[in-house]
Amino acid sequence: MIKTIAFDKDFTMTINGKSVVKEQTFNAVNPATEEIIASVPEASKDDLEQAVQSAKTVFKTWSNKTPDERGEYIYKFGEALDRYKEELMSLLTLEQGKPRHSGAKIELDMSIQWCKEVSQQRLDLEIIEDTEQHVVEKHYTPLGVVGAITPWNFPVLLGVWKIVPALMAGNTMVMKPSPYTPLCTLKIGEIAREVFPDGVLNVVSGGNELGQWITEHPDINKISFTGSTATGKKVMASASTNLKRITLELGGNDAAIVLPDADPKSLVEDLFWAAYGNSGQWCIAIKRLYVHEEIYDEFLYELVAFAKSINVGNGNNPSTDLGPIQNKMQYEKVKNILEDIKDTNLNIALGGEVDDEQPGYFIPVTIVDNPPEDSRIVKEEPFGPILPVLKYNDYDDVIERVNNTPFGLAGSVWGKDVEFAKSLARKIESGTVWVNEIHIHGTHIPFGGHKQSGFGIENSLDGLAEFTNTKVYMFKK
Ligand code: NAD
Repeated sequence: MIKTIAFDKDFTMTINGKSVVKEQTFNAVNPATEEIIASVPEASKDDLEQAVQSAKTVFKTWSNKTPDERGEYIYKFGEALDRYKEELMSLLTLEQGKPRHSGAKIELDMSIQWCKEVSQQRLDLEIIEDTEQHVVEKHYTPLGVVGAITPWNFPVLLGVWKIVPALMAGNTMVMKPSPYTPLCTLKIGEIAREVFPDGVLNVVSGGNELGQWITEHPDINKISFTGSTATGKKVMASASTNLKRITLELGGNDAAIVLPDADPKSLVEDLFWAAYGNSGQWCIAIKRLYVHEEIYDEFLYELVAFAKSINVGNGNNPSTDLGPIQNKMQYEKVKNILEDIKDTNLNIALGGEVDDEQPGYFIPVTIVDNPPEDSRIVKEEPFGPILPVLKYNDYDDVIERVNNTPFGLAGSVWGKDVEFAKSLARKIESGTVWVNEIHIHGTHIPFGGHKQSGFGIENSLDGLAEFTNTKVYMFKK
């Protein structure tokens, strides 16, 4: 029987298919108003232990189901998310800040699509050798309990990117959302109670310490982590205790290169959204925009003109294009970068002034005109709506500058001479490179960072295989 879920109250953890409340709680805050919107249970070590043990127990039966049986559950999970899509969209805007009619809707639509498509994916056994003497078979076996840790920028989608392939491959899961955006994930846990056998998907909430307990836990066999590079390094260190498998999707400082034959007027809208979508709080947002000197002035003029038409505000308002920064800690970090821009006398082509009197963590769309390559806004990932536009005139030099970063998540090249654009794209050191398009994802497209942007792959059969061990059987005939 399907029960009614309230999306405005009763935020409980899901442990072994049951609702768990705690006396110890922390607050969830609406970033557009700074109002407290809910009390969130704070998991103890004992709660985590129960979640892990229930996931471990049910692993025996869950992993024994056929991929078709698991696929059916996952498809139903997608249908259940679809049933609660409107409520989840509203909750996502309330806790994360992104506009309900655009960002929140896209995030839910993609999450539902992921459930439905990944439910059809199969890691088929491979016959490697079949001779008169013997057979060699390659199988994929599930790992056991997966610990999933997510950030606050896309709490629903990045959670689904972990839940769906991990469960599809036969694992069970303990998931921990960011303490800044726990609400949708707790409700997803509640929805999962309707769909999955008890213990297959557990959701626990708490702070960073809870994340650390997960990464250290001896009965957790894999960590799937999305977050900052700094935390990713800690995860990797503590996962070494029992040689956990790890997938790390970390930070980025993605560059876009605009060639001199590009048409600034027709490009700026796409590039604007690629940089400022989700208020710049996006691992693969364009964070450095290199424009050839021949068209630099015209490009900057057009970009500023387009950016002036953008409304920053409460994501519940249908006229809002960009919401607030998601939390106070990040808001202070972004303001600190703005201060540095001013202290070092960089040219601000648009924005830069924060109205601290207004409630909410709002930062205006800010464009920095040709800052030096070693300035903080070029070197660091601002994770806010501030973009440096940089001038170049030599292709070897621009590639050198683009690659001169510890990050290697994604990049893009834009211009009319597609063959030349592709030749530059091949020189960008990153996991994904786009030419004349950007931010295309798919359940069949591998996604992962190079260098310090990550470790391993999400999505595609490669991503599914990361939730398995390779096992080889050899039989003498
Ligand atoms: P964060 O690293 O601060 O936190 C991410 C998660 O890790 C949270 O759930 C947090 O509670 C948990 N955590 C913190 N300390 C931990 C520890 N010691 N052990 C285990 N877990 C711990 O990141 P954030 O600020 O939430 O997210 C922003 C960052 O995430 C940015 O750097 C961004 O580029 C990156 N990101 C990457 C991708 C990607 O796919 N590559 C996607 C989205 C965000």
